Amino acid sequence: MAYKIVDTCINCGACASECPVNAISQGDTQFDIDAAACIDCGNCANVCPVGAPVQD
Ligand code: SF4
Ligand code: SF4
Repeated sequence: MAYKIVDTCINCGACASECPVNAISQGDTQFDIDAAACIDCGNCANVCPVGAPVQD
């Protein structure tokens, strides 16, 4: 079960630098998680100010 980022993302970028496997990148409208790379550590959810990363 990888994490995904829902559309409440405000593009602050805080999550990307906290991901140990660099699975998070900026997409066209919001940040996105590469589900194949995500190891479910939860760091992104812990640092996100709006709770946008959720378990898929
Ligand atoms: S749960 Fe961890 S590994 Fe997965 S995207 Fe978030 S920070 Fe990266
Ligand atoms: S920390 Fe949250 S609001 Fe900021 S870019 Fe990541 S998912 Fe979006």
